[in-house]
Amino acid sequence: AIRSYAVAAEVDEEPIKPPFDITYTKLLINGEFVDSASGKTFPTVDPRTEEVIANVAEGDVEDIDRAVKAARKAFDEGPWPRMSSYERSKIIHRFADLIEKNNDELAALDTLDSGKIYDQARLIEIPLVTRLFRYYGGWADKIHGMTLPVDGPYQAYTLHEPIGVVGQIIPWNFPMVMFSWKVAPALACGNTIVLKTAEQTPLSSILAGKLALEAGLPPGVLNIVSGYGPTAGAAVSKHMDVDKVAFTGSTEVGKIIMQSAAQSNLKPVTLELGGKSPFIICEDADVDQAVELSHFALFFNQGQCCCAGSRTFVHESIYDEYLEKAKDRALKRIVGDPFKSGVEQGPQVDEVQFNKVLGYIDAGQQEGARLLTGGARFGRKGYYIKPTIFADVQDAMSIAKDEIFGPVQSVTKFRTLEEVVKRANNTDYGLAAGVFTKSLDTANTLSRALRVGTVWINCYDIFDASVPFGGYKMSGVGREKGEHVLKNYLQVKAVMTPLVNPAWL
Ligand code: NAD
Repeated sequence: AIRSYAVAAEVDEEPIKPPFDITYTKLLINGEFVDSASGKTFPTVDPRTEEVIANVAEGDVEDIDRAVKAARKAFDEGPWPRMSSYERSKIIHRFADLIEKNNDELAALDTLDSGKIYDQARLIEIPLVTRLFRYYGGWADKIHGMTLPVDGPYQAYTLHEPIGVVGQIIPWNFPMVMFSWKVAPALACGNTIVLKTAEQTPLSSILAGKLALEAGLPPGVLNIVSGYGPTAGAAVSKHMDVDKVAFTGSTEVGKIIMQSAAQSNLKPVTLELGGKSPFIICEDADVDQAVELSHFALFFNQGQCCCAGSRTFVHESIYDEYLEKAKDRALKRIVGDPFKSGVEQGPQVDEVQFNKVLGYIDAGQQEGARLLTGGARFGRKGYYIKPTIFADVQDAMSIAKDEIFGPVQSVTKFRTLEEVVKRANNTDYGLAAGVFTKSLDTANTLSRALRVGTVWINCYDIFDASVPFGGYKMSGVGREKGEHVLKNYLQVKAVMTPLVNPAWL
């Protein structure tokens, strides 16, 4: 039976074991699973138990170089960029079918590695991954240039060509979803790939690499290297033979990636970085619904979302009622083994993130925010944290400014729309925002006034393959998903020829 965290001791029970062995732990280079050049491995840890799940091949500079060479050869000499776009589309669709077939195992690997809720991974995330591959499988044979009218006796047209060898670096919070946002569009455009996975969550991508081979992806088209950021990751962004780099992670590392891209071969960079997204609850809101949605906006995935609604702005007329009900909701949040059906919150991904979140909880108290509930570790084992709410948060406090990336909600009150727009925009970030109101006029005003890449009105965290995602300001450069991402992975070539004969006889 599942109980509220206030009374449960679920995390002290035996952890649930998924019914399969971990088979794939090596690097995928040139269509083969290989050990790292150094022979080194690193442990990936189950955040429920703090125990090692598996030892995974640790890629470093030499392995990235091997992977880039394989990708280069596959691009310069291999069939992938040369085959008909319909053939490419069919392979991407077969890959999608295999992901769908292995849905539950991919979901379980992400839960083991990251502590995310298994039902969320199984019912929402991996189906989204399948959808993404189908969406870009559909795009593969619809990418085309234009013929252009020119002033003179010339014929002019553009060719949209793949950009070449693409380096991709992904984070740990949505391992397979991030895999799909990066890999699917790059494949659809005919590129070859070197993917560096996050050191906390390498397992699902390796299995997906095996499925890609099974789907018919030629060797060297998708190379997957597990390993750490400052070694393997840095080698991707610095490499002279990588033609483009796409990164998702912290703003701090995003800056490093951009610098090394500039200092090496000026490869173009797209970045999907952090956020401190406002969730604005207007005075006309139904308070019960607002509590539920703002709770979800922050606590989803243990608060480990780049777009988490981490600054809750509540209109002063409903502030006290909101706080009381938000506290009740947080107290009812079910924390426990993420494999257990009905559990809403698992552990944080690792010890580093766990300590970082607890550090911010301390800072919030030191800086004078009012701790409504939570504020401590949950259980004796695993990286579990009690759902935490701070009220009366001031804009200058670190919990209002920094990305906490944990189950810590910061609530503050506002009086007018002008005031809330100003305060919501007063941040270095600009990834997303939530607006909760019954007024269409208010929704229209706020959705235009907020300087963010996504506005969710009366909903939150709704994602689809067709909708672009990305940040204003220091939340990123460029957009992913939708038609928008394709241009990141394409070069445009202009071709002109003389028109010797007159166009019209
Ligand atoms: P990070 O930015 O350090 O890691 C993201 C990826 O970048 C990982 O694959 C990592 O190995 C790699 N990386 C790290 N240093 C690198 C370097 N010098 N060169 C190239 N690649 C490098 O993020 P993190 O340490 O895992 O988490 C820290 C913070 O980042 C979090 O607290 C959160 O604020 C933020 N974050 C944001 C997202 C997002 O989706 N935007 C995801 C994860 C983390």
